[in-house]
Amino acid sequence: MLAYLVAGVLFILALRGLSHPTTSREGNRYGMAGMLIAVVTTLVTHMPMKVGDAFNSYAGPDFASLGEILAAIAIGAVIGLVTARRIKMTDMPQLVAAFHSLVGLAAVLVGWAAYLDPAAFGILGGDGLINPVSRVEAGLGIAIGAITFSGSVIAFLKLAGKMSGSPILLPLRHVINLGTLVAILGLVGYFTMDQSLWVIATITVLSFIIGFLLIIPIGGADMPVVVSMLNSYSGWAAAAMGFTLHNSAMIITGALVGSSGAILSYIMCKAMNRGFLSVIAGGFGAEAAASGGAAKEQRPWKQGSADDAAFMLKQAESVIIIPGYGMAVAQAQHALREMGDHLKKEGVSVKYAIHPVAGRMPGHMNVLLAEANVPYDEVFELEDINSEFAQCDVAFIIGANDVVNPAAKTDKSSPIYGMPVFDVDKAKQVFFIKRSMGGVGYAGVDNDVFYMDQTMMLLADAKKMVEDINKALDA
Ligand code: NDP
Repeated sequence: MLAYLVAGVLFILALRGLSHPTTSREGNRYGMAGMLIAVVTTLVTHMPMKVGDAFNSYAGPDFASLGEILAAIAIGAVIGLVTARRIKMTDMPQLVAAFHSLVGLAAVLVGWAAYLDPAAFGILGGDGLINPVSRVEAGLGIAIGAITFSGSVIAFLKLAGKMSGSPILLPLRHVINLGTLVAILGLVGYFTMDQSLWVIATITVLSFIIGFLLIIPIGGADMPVVVSMLNSYSGWAAAAMGFTLHNSAMIITGALVGSSGAILSYIMCKAMNRGFLSVIAGGFGAEAAASGGAAKEQRPWKQGSADDAAFMLKQAESVIIIPGYGMAVAQAQHALREMGDHLKKEGVSVKYAIHPVAGRMPGHMNVLLAEANVPYDEVFELEDINSEFAQCDVAFIIGANDVVNPAAKTDKSSPIYGMPVFDVDKAKQVFFIKRSMGGVGYAGVDNDVFYMDQTMMLLADAKKMVEDINKALDA
């Protein structure tokens, strides 16, 4: 118990560490140490016992099952290690969604294992039936796990671009969703009186369906909230497993992940200026998505070159860089930091502006800029820097789009309406790096910034363009 407590404290320290880029490595180390203590303690205290036979009543540790457990850990570790090494930074969000789905599936399997072999889990009552409290725990664990699983699979498909990111709206979906949720809760209650197979099977099937139904109507720019919400669900699924397995470390860890995911969802909702319930209800921006986004007009725009940009950047007194998903795709962060260093040597003030939903996962831009050793004191959050655009000489947009789209402020029919965005339109000069005029951001809408008088489009791969700007700055 004491070891679990130590692991729990280490997990809390890990979360605290992970809340800031400067302490995130330390946070990771605390988390790893906590996990090691939790796994070793569980192995030692829950070692399966060999059952004695007629000639030998000794019931010692069953090292044969220890071998199976260690083999399973080794296989999982190898898969995790290879995946983590191979995964591209831009594919992280779908990987996270895939991992969440595994937590959900594990919760379902643990719940079913407890149902099928209650004696092994020590959850039998005096009457030979599963005790009612354990039935509620198993029922809820299976329900939360199944919702997490199917919801995460849909999120994975949407984030990986294997399924349209637009909201898919079923008629009467609110009634269907609410009815299904009420039915699941009712069945969990009924399960305490009747532990028949059909009850738990129906809970499982309905929960798989509701996970699917809850995520398909969420689209447009609301996916960040889904990612953090599923993170929270996976925590609660793990906590439910902890109750079924009587493992306090799992309950603590699950509750920590569940509540931190819920807090993150709240923060993301605030960042997007959305009500949590309206995101969960889904369908926001469906009209624009159904019509293929805002109609594209043929409007005049200006194209610039790396030389133009280098010349004007050198002349500027202050430059604010706004990175987005395209910087991550192009892996342009190192070249960008070099550009920043170069400009600072020329006496230009350089700041980086990070939007809470820039990229494809919370903290995406912070991680990339930290990887490129951009000093933390040059990196600013939206609310801290937005007022500075009115005074800055150059807003340098690199692979960002939705997070600088003024439609979020003015166009009520836009899927991103209401989301706070950077006021780049107030900057004296705007450089906008993207590959083509046709490409749109995640929300799939046109952007007025392309056509502003002070905007110069730099059409190329972000890394290539910044490298060319660096060459021009050197020349
Ligand atoms: P966007 O997705 O709005 O825009 C990306 C831009 O990058 C596009 O203009 C694209 O244009 C350009 N681009 C893509 N590849 C390259 C490349 N190799 N070189 C140069 N440019 C490139 O990005 P933002 O970061 O502004 O916005 C994030 C969006 O993603 C928001 O809508 C947010 O809600 C959503 N989202 C965020 C999540 C999160 O947790 N942060 C999770 C899920 C979704 P082109 O194709 O022409 O190059």
